[in-house]
Amino acid sequence: AAKRAGKGRYEVFDPTMSTAVLARADVENGLRQALDRDELVVHLQPLVDVTARAATRVEALVRWPRPSGLALPADFLPVAERSGLVRTLGQQVLRAACRGLAPWLAADPGRSVAVNVSPVQLREPDFATTVLGILARTGVGPRQLLLEVTETLFLEAGPRVVGQLAELRAAGIRVAIDDFGTGYSSLGRLQDLPVDGVKVDRTFVQQMGAGPGDAAILTAMVTLAHDLGLEVTAEGVETRDQATRLLELGVDHLQGHHLARPVPLDALDDAVAAAGAAVRAAAGCPGRSG
Ligand code: C2E
Ligand code: MG
Ligand code: MG
Ligand code: MG
Repeated sequence: AAKRAGKGRYEVFDPTMSTAVLARADVENGLRQALDRDELVVHLQPLVDVTARAATRVEALVRWPRPSGLALPADFLPVAERSGLVRTLGQQVLRAACRGLAPWLAADPGRSVAVNVSPVQLREPDFATTVLGILARTGVGPRQLLLEVTETLFLEAGPRVVGQLAELRAAGIRVAIDDFGTGYSSLGRLQDLPVDGVKVDRTFVQQMGAGPGDAAILTAMVTLAHDLGLEVTAEGVETRDQATRLLELGVDHLQGHHLARPVPLDALDDAVAAAGAAVRAAAGCPGRSG
C-alpha cells in the first residue's frame, strides 16, 4: 500500500479492512437466509431460585447452526444489530422460546423464561405489541416472561424506549438489567430505571476469592438493589465456592456453568435437575440433592 502513496487516482486499499468488510457481508447474507428459513435455534440455561433451591427460570440464548458448527452470539449478534436483522432474530427467538417452553411453563406458574432484547428492538414503535402478540399466540402468561436489557439502553433511552418498557411492565412482564455494573450508569441511576431486577455481571463474581474486600462491590450492589425492591441474579457462577458465597450474600438467583450450561430443549429436564442439586450442595444440604 505504501508504494501507492501519493498517487491520488488510486483509492486507499487496506487488504485487512477489505476482508473484514467481506466477512461482515457474508455473515449478514448468511444470517438473512437463516432467518428466512427459520434456522436459528434457542438453547436454554437454567437459573436457580435460591429460596426454592430449584431452577425455576431459564434464559433463552440464540445459536446459529452452520456447517462449521454452532455459532455463538458473539460471532453474529454485532452484525445482526448493525443491519437491523436483530429485530427479526429477536422475534424468532421469543417465539421459539415461548413455543418450546409452553408446557414447562404451564406446569408451574412460578416458572419463567428470560429473553435478551437488543436496544434496536426497543426502538421499534410496535415492539410491545409484537411481544404481547407472541405471548397470546403461544399461551404464555406475561408474568412468566422476563426481558433482559442492557444498561447502555438507558443512556440513550428516549421516551419511545421508556414507553415500550412501561407498556410491557403494565402487562405484567418483568424487566432486568443484564451485565449490570459494567456500563456507565451503574448504582446511582438504579432508582430511576423502570426495571424489576439486575443481573450482576460475571466479572464481579470472578473477583471473589481475590483477597480482602473482594466482594465489597458485590455486597453493596446486592444491598442497594434489595433496598430498592429489585431482584438480584449473579451470572457466571463457575465454582461451588462462588455459589456458597453468593448464597451468603443473599443473591436471589444463580446462573452459571457450575449450576448448568445452556442446553437444547430436549435436555432441559436434566439440566434443571442438575442445577437444583448443585445449589443444594452449595447450601450445605447434599442430602436433598439426590
Ligand atoms: P448474556 O445475556 O449475559 O448471557 C450469558 C452468557 O454467558 C451466555 O453466553 C452464556 O452461555 C454465558 N455463560 C453462562 N454461564 C457462564 C459461566 O459460568 N461462565 C461463563 N464464562 N459464561 C457463562 P452466550 O450464549 O454466548 O451469549 C452471549 C450474549 O449474547 C448474551 O449475554 C446476550 O447478551 C446475547 N444474546 C444471546 N442470545 C440473544 C438473543 O436471543 N437476543 C439478543 N438480543 N441477545 C442475545
Ligand atoms: Mg442475558
Ligand atoms: Mg447476562
Ligand atoms: Mg453477561
